[in-house]
Amino acid sequence: MKLDSYWTDSAPAFAPAVHALPAQVDVAVVGGGFTGLSAALALAKRGARVAVLEAGARVAAEASGRNGGHVNNGLAVDYADVAARVGIDKARAWYRAYDDAVDTVARLVRDEAIDCDFMRHGKLKLATRAHQMAALERSAERLLADGVDTDVEILDAAQVRSEVQSERFHGGLLYRRSGQMHMGRFAQGLAAAAQRHGAQIHTGTMVSRIERLGQGHAHRLHTAGGILTAQQVLLATGATRHGGYGSFGWLRRRIVPIGSFIVVTEPLGAERAQALLAARRTYTTVANIHHYFRLTPDHRLVFGGRARFSVSSPQADAASGEILRTGLAETFPQLGAVRLDYCWGGLVDMTQDRLPHAGERDGLYYAMGYSGHGTQMSIHMGERMAAVMDGDAGANPWQGRDWPAIPGHFGPPWFLPAVGLYYSLKDKLA
Ligand SMILES: Cc1cc2nc3c(=O)[nH]c(=O)nc-3n(C[C@H](O)[C@H](O)[C@H](O)COP(=O)(O)OP(=O)(O)OC[C@H]3O[C@@H](n4cnc5c(N)ncnc54)[C@H](O)[C@@H]3O)c2cc1C
Repeated sequence: MKLDSYWTDSAPAFAPAVHALPAQVDVAVVGGGFTGLSAALALAKRGARVAVLEAGARVAAEASGRNGGHVNNGLAVDYADVAARVGIDKARAWYRAYDDAVDTVARLVRDEAIDCDFMRHGKLKLATRAHQMAALERSAERLLADGVDTDVEILDAAQVRSEVQSERFHGGLLYRRSGQMHMGRFAQGLAAAAQRHGAQIHTGTMVSRIERLGQGHAHRLHTAGGILTAQQVLLATGATRHGGYGSFGWLRRRIVPIGSFIVVTEPLGAERAQALLAARRTYTTVANIHHYFRLTPDHRLVFGGRARFSVSSPQADAASGEILRTGLAETFPQLGAVRLDYCWGGLVDMTQDRLPHAGERDGLYYAMGYSGHGTQMSIHMGERMAAVMDGDAGANPWQGRDWPAIPGHFGPPWFLPAVGLYYSLKDKLA
């Protein structure tokens, strides 16, 4: 079994054109994940001189290359809870920002001719306990009643069983606008498009310090490859593990890096895969510590979850792989003896309210905090932040949100085991 991401292992690595680090650029983008690459593409298309500064040896090798491969619509939290907190208009706008984000991915795939098996077969949220169906039904009713999403539908247990070969589920909520794609191939295509449009991409270039020059947006960046000055800077660093979990001061107290883990089976063969998940959607279960799964183009099952509350490391990934093996066998007993070919973990950039944050502070632009639901939003926000940096403040769907520091959180998330215990107890008692 490879302790590596299936997506990066099964895609050609993007090879950036070799450039010396420029002394000056219009925009420096810190981080070459989906947020940073999408911003670089959009900024370059607007005529800016852009440099992406990526600490790793390869672009999109952190969360953007280590995720579950879902490109889902809908909020990461319950729409009705958000509406109760911030009002229907704002909740509806935020929900629709995810529809726009999936559309942005579809448009980029088409316009840049990215070969990544993007398809929109929907997402099915599955109830593992009978009483969860009432909550799913309430969600569907509310989304329909508020005119937020007219493409949702409740499926009963028999309907679910007709497309998911498992006895475990009591029904589900179908979100038809959701999609999926091969994350490694998409990343390769996105980076190539950004470069084709003129952005420079510098890998192995960790930014260790950012100095503000005056009161505007200009900064001097100290990097592993030298110093460069930028008229504007976008922080697209996700749940960075570089520089000790959040190199840049105030973000460290607002983003909690939490590990999420994935295993991938050997190829099951077209027939067996078709019988397993006939509609080839993305699937998640209802729980605080939930599972998510889908098939790959070569008919493997990708099965993930927050197996343990810890950050990702080779030991944590392998231990989590064993927990996921059990979860997979409980869900699909017929796959109990199947070989697992891949196992990996990655860091989710969790925020306290599980919604993204983007904007400008102290002259620095930022977009992050997608909270495990960010393949679509990171790509969308890269584009949106390019517009914001070009003078269109209204392009940011997340503008104007307060972002207080998390009490007691100063860097490495020491409290994760306690949080994990709390959520697993909540799931057991639910
Ligand atoms: C295991 C897992 C499963 C997930 N599954 C899904 C899913 O199925 N669907 C979904 O919607 N979302 C999912 N997500 C979340 C999604 O992958 C992320 O929200 C999204 O990829 C974030 O992109 P990003 O560019 O903001 O961050 P990243 O991809 O993390 O990119 C940030 C980049 O910044 C670089 N960087 C950081 N600090 C510095 C520095 N100081 N100098 C230079 N470079 C730096 C990092 O090396 C990294 O490459 C998952 C995440 C994980 C970890």
